[in-house]
Amino acid sequence: RLFVEHPLGQGQSVPLNREQAHYLFGVMRQSAGNAVLLFNGRDGEWRATVAEAGKRGGVLTCEQRTRGLMMPPDLWLLFAPIKKARTDFIVEKAAEMGAARILPVQTEFTNAERIRQDRLQAHAVEAAEQCGGTFVPEVAPLQKLDRVLADWPGGRQLMFCDEVEAGSNIDLAPGVSAGPWAILIGPEGGFSDTERARLTAMPASHVVSLGPRILRADTAAVAAMALWQRALGD
Ligand code: SAM
Repeated sequence: RLFVEHPLGQGQSVPLNREQAHYLFGVMRQSAGNAVLLFNGRDGEWRATVAEAGKRGGVLTCEQRTRGLMMPPDLWLLFAPIKKARTDFIVEKAAEMGAARILPVQTEFTNAERIRQDRLQAHAVEAAEQCGGTFVPEVAPLQKLDRVLADWPGGRQLMFCDEVEAGSNIDLAPGVSAGPWAILIGPEGGFSDTERARLTAMPASHVVSLGPRILRADTAAVAAMALWQRALGD
C-alpha cells in the first residue's frame, strides 16, 4: 500500500519518485506486472499495476477503485510536543485512531520550541499506509495554545484532559453532544493555572478525567482518543 500525491482514476498513469521506487522495487521487491494498492487521501484506494520499474523511478497504472474515501469523524487532536520519539508516537497513533487534524500547540510549560512538521506529516502518511486508511490527517504547524483558543471555531467542543481539575468521564460530561470535536493533551508539566482557568471557562469545553492515575502525555493521547471514539466516534 502506497501513498502518492498524484491524482488517481481509471487508466491514470502515476509516476513514482526515487524514494517510492526504492521502497516498492528495492525493499518490497515488486516488479513490472505486480499489483499495488494506491491512495492519495482524496480519491479513495485504487489497485494499480507496475508498468515501469526502475532504480530512480517508475510508473504505475490505476486499474480499479477498491474503496472510496473514508473520511474520519471531525476530531482534532491538540497536544503539546514532548520528546521527539514520543511526539512521533502521538502523531502516528492519532492518524491510526482516525483524527482528522493534528495540531501541535505550545503551552506555558511546553519545552519544545519547534517541531519538524514535514517529518511528523510523513509519520501520519506511514500510519495511514499501514492501517488501511484512505485519508491522511494534516499535521498543522506549531502554534501557541493562546492563539488557537483565540480563533476557536464556534460549535467545536473541546475535551480538555486534565488530571488536576475534577473532570468527569467523557460519557458522563454534562452537555456532551455529537459534532466537531477536539481533544487537548498537555505537556509533561501539565497546564498552568492561567491556562486551566481559561480552558475551563470556554463555553464548549468539557473537563475530562482519564482515570485516577497521572498518565504520560503519549499514553493520555491514546487513552483520550479511544474514549472519545467509544463515546462519540463512528
Ligand atoms: N502535571 C502533571 C505532573 O507533572 O504531575 C503531569 C501532566 S501529564 C504527564 C500530561 C498530560 O496528560 C496532562 O496535561 C493531561 O492533559 C493528560 N493526562 C494525564 N493523566 C491524566 C488523567 N488522569 N486525566 C486527564 N488527563 C490526564
